[in-house]
Amino acid sequence: MTEFMINNVAFKDQATFIRQGRRCATPEPNALQANRISRNRSAFRASNAEFISSSEQIIIPIRFIHIVDGANGQVSDQQRKDQVKVLNDAYGGFGFSFEIKDVVVEDNPLWFGVDFDTPEEVQMKTALQEDPTIQLNFYTANPSGGTLGWATFPWEIAINPQLDGVVLLSGTLPGGNVANFNLGHTATHEIGHWLGLFHTFQGGCNGIGDVIGDTVAHSGPNFGTPDPDDRNGACSPSEKAPVQNFMNYTNDSLMTEFTFQQKQRMRELIGIFRPKLIERSETLRSLLHPITPLA
Ligand SMILES: [Zn+2]
Repeated sequence: MTEFMINNVAFKDQATFIRQGRRCATPEPNALQANRISRNRSAFRASNAEFISSSEQIIIPIRFIHIVDGANGQVSDQQRKDQVKVLNDAYGGFGFSFEIKDVVVEDNPLWFGVDFDTPEEVQMKTALQEDPTIQLNFYTANPSGGTLGWATFPWEIAINPQLDGVVLLSGTLPGGNVANFNLGHTATHEIGHWLGLFHTFQGGCNGIGDVIGDTVAHSGPNFGTPDPDDRNGACSPSEKAPVQNFMNYTNDSLMTEFTFQQKQRMRELIGIFRPKLIERSETLRSLLHPITPLA
């Protein structure tokens, strides 16, 4: 066993780090929320088949908000550019692209240690966020306890618009100091949540899982760099867990894919909950038939 360090917190090994649930602090929705989302998707699909299947790019402007403590937590111009390139490579084939809209640097030792669901999160976001309906508010900071990041889901924008966005440990950006997680796919993963995806292992082998038909159900998160040709906890003995999927927990170096149905779900949820993001495209405007979602 090799001791596993994340942001100066020691875990017995990488498996312990994953089991303690701090890799990604994005919570699972409850059954009532899941039911509402499902009803919204059914209503949207009924009149938006062309919008969902269109390959026209949805361009997402990013407002980078870097919380620093003096020299700690600084993110370079090159790291931002590299992060956007990583996102464009990951999402480009699925009809999404990203661009830098703003860069804000805020020196605040208290917010620097921000963690999920804390007063500091509310204060930080309330002070620094800009209109979440037209951009991604992308915060970097130094969450404690080995948290790499978290995100809000699209349906939360109606209830808590001021919390909308993703928060990442700054060292997870490309070239950062977090071993195994510094190629930029923590952002790919958290933005997947921001666009409405769940973990591929959600629900384990019971229940409705991640609500995606073409990701193999598996018993729990995978970590490290498992061989994709092994079963790796797939619920069915004849299948293989999606260890290369961005919504699993494996190392950045192994992550390469979303699936077709994950893409469809992301486009549906943008059409339902973030329709202003498509307004720059005349093609998408002409294809979109908005619905009023149940919040
Ligand atoms: Zn996650």
